[in-house]
Amino acid sequence: MAAGFDIRQLNPAQRKAVETLDGPVLILAGAGTGKTRTVTCRMANLIDQGVRPEQILAVTFTNKAAREMQERVAGMVSKAAAEKLTVCTFHSLCVRLLRSGIERMGYKKNFSICTPGDQQALIKQFIVKRGGLKEKIKPGEVLGVISKAKNDPAGMDSIGDELFRSIAIDYQNELRARNCVDFDDLLLLGEQLLREHPEERAKWQEHYRYVTVDEFQDTNSLQMNLLQNLVGTPFNVCVVGDDDQSIYGWRGAEVANILQFERFFPNPEIILLEENYRSTQAVLEVANKLIKVNVGRREKELRPTIPGGDLIQLVAFGGEDEEAEWVADEMKRLRRLGKKGKAAEPKIDSAVQRMLGGGSGALMEGGGEDPNLRPWEDFAILFRTNTQIRKMEQMLREKEIPYRLVGAQSFYDRREVRDILAYLQTIVDPHADVPLLRILNTPPRGIGNSTALIANDWSREHETSIWSAMGNPDFLDQMGTKAQKSIGEFQALIEGAHIRLLDGEHPREVLESVLESADYVEWLMRNTKTDQEKDQRRAGMGFFFEGLDRAIAKGKTVQTFLEETLLDPQKDDELAEKKGVTLITLHAAKGLEYPVVFLVGLEEGILPHKRSVEEGTKDEERRLLYVGITRAQERLSLTYCSSRVKWGEEIRSEPSSFIGELNFDWIEETDHAAIMKEEASEDDLADFLGGMRAMLD
Ligand code: ATP
Ligand code: MG
Repeated sequence: MAAGFDIRQLNPAQRKAVETLDGPVLILAGAGTGKTRTVTCRMANLIDQGVRPEQILAVTFTNKAAREMQERVAGMVSKAAAEKLTVCTFHSLCVRLLRSGIERMGYKKNFSICTPGDQQALIKQFIVKRGGLKEKIKPGEVLGVISKAKNDPAGMDSIGDELFRSIAIDYQNELRARNCVDFDDLLLLGEQLLREHPEERAKWQEHYRYVTVDEFQDTNSLQMNLLQNLVGTPFNVCVVGDDDQSIYGWRGAEVANILQFERFFPNPEIILLEENYRSTQAVLEVANKLIKVNVGRREKELRPTIPGGDLIQLVAFGGEDEEAEWVADEMKRLRRLGKKGKAAEPKIDSAVQRMLGGGSGALMEGGGEDPNLRPWEDFAILFRTNTQIRKMEQMLREKEIPYRLVGAQSFYDRREVRDILAYLQTIVDPHADVPLLRILNTPPRGIGNSTALIANDWSREHETSIWSAMGNPDFLDQMGTKAQKSIGEFQALIEGAHIRLLDGEHPREVLESVLESADYVEWLMRNTKTDQEKDQRRAGMGFFFEGLDRAIAKGKTVQTFLEETLLDPQKDDELAEKKGVTLITLHAAKGLEYPVVFLVGLEEGILPHKRSVEEGTKDEERRLLYVGITRAQERLSLTYCSSRVKWGEEIRSEPSSFIGELNFDWIEETDHAAIMKEEASEDDLADFLGGMRAMLD
């Protein structure tokens, strides 16, 4: 057995899963029972048993999870072997399938991928064209409708509203004409490719001999069909899931998939894992009682391996400022207590520390972290909605507590990153229309909107790319001499770079020299207001180039780098490898764990979300709370407020109806609002007495 892979670290049920390599395997188990750890070990075992890593595919829910899984396997087998595994999301998998077969469905091989940012830009165009502006139609709204329609058997015809339908059809025609696919198309076309083309199906079934899917409860029926077509006999497929953690019903996830796995892949080995290794008994008692309220679930055991534990705190506040302040102060207190209740020797007098702003300045002499303090990375604050995060961020900044936002603004939503990404895409393939249009006049070079529009129409009419149109004498004849000159210069710039790339020059050098010739950075800085923003833009570009360097150093092609980049909406904080307390939404927290968890805003309308009450999806909200609770390893605090500010107005809020479903044998309740009131009235009394004394003196 290879170094690092130790079967003794697994319990008998986990071991059984790791050792059952052939035929269908269904691992069905509650949160924190080691599902992910088990499938990771199982992949290492496959390699140990002589399966070639190229033949192993693991599908995860996010790119982050994929990276982590690959790293974990790399710790157990040789690094070289781990790098040959395919560990990716369903979307990345589809890109792989389509690169080799999309021509069978009438697209050209070099299709480009339309990112959410590109989608927004396209859709805005058609909203304007169809007169949707005065109806105040929002791009996001139309995109939601389009996505739903694409996944509907009736397609665009399923859209009831005429205006929305015509915008949707325009949009899809445009994508087709530009040889471009969006994220929904990736899955739809990937599935179609395998379903309709037996040769492709046979090829890929032969290629991936062992397939694993983590977080299987959140796959939708399309992904299920894809899986069915991808896995041939003898059905070497292992799926892992927990029906209680299905939280993507709104995206069409089918819990039925997990409940009916046996129908698709007959006679599976079903493995139940029942010991939870993550959380204390207190956390699990609260989680278990809550989830039992849901009907139609597979009953299963979730036994603690860590008996007892601190009681779960349930704390009520008057308003969100108080809530945020308490969370911040409580984190500081727990930090000083150190790990597992071990009190830290204060290094500096606490009054001095308070004067210095407390918390984050806990560096020891020489710059290392004080080992007696609980690291900030142990803490996570979980939210139902993104809007709740702002207040907490503000408080953490005020109290100088370092934090990182997970799932916040995508790095690739940033303007400078999207620009240079589009430059690189164009250099690699000038015929890709979408990126070309983005940079055609960025920075302004005299190829304005009207020229772009004419070029676009001309290219559509002549069924060619915009790039080809711009090189065609018939088209150029319609342009004035000035525009002709600008177009010529632009084409020479890109053409030259394209050739240098083909000649094997380092992509970074090529890209940098194009940006320099185009005066891009100078223009960008001139159009950026504050110094802070300027720094951010420089950092954004820096990250981009570092990522490119890393990929090339690993032997990847620019094409692969671009694909991974477009599909992987990496986040700012993640890229910056920022340390500190984690702020994260409940959806994004799936699969993760933290020693100390604060789950805030447990109010009716927030959790359960008000939409869920209208749409009858309260069970899914309950599962979401269950996911949140089961992220906690040692300590959990649940908080709620009796009022919240909404659009500048203070609104009363009610405690979540889920609170009544928790196990109060393991909960300690505090009414912080009442304590504050008492303290305030004591202060008032002291003030009053003080005043009286002063009068008598
Ligand atoms: P989730 O449902 O949240 O995705 P999971 O079932 O995938 O959870 P893991 O994340 O794999 O669970 O494991 C939870 C924790 O338990 C991890 O810290 C893991 O290292 C630990 N763990 C798993 N199995 C064992 C074991 N046999 N002995 C000790 N610790 C274990
Ligand atoms: Mg997991």
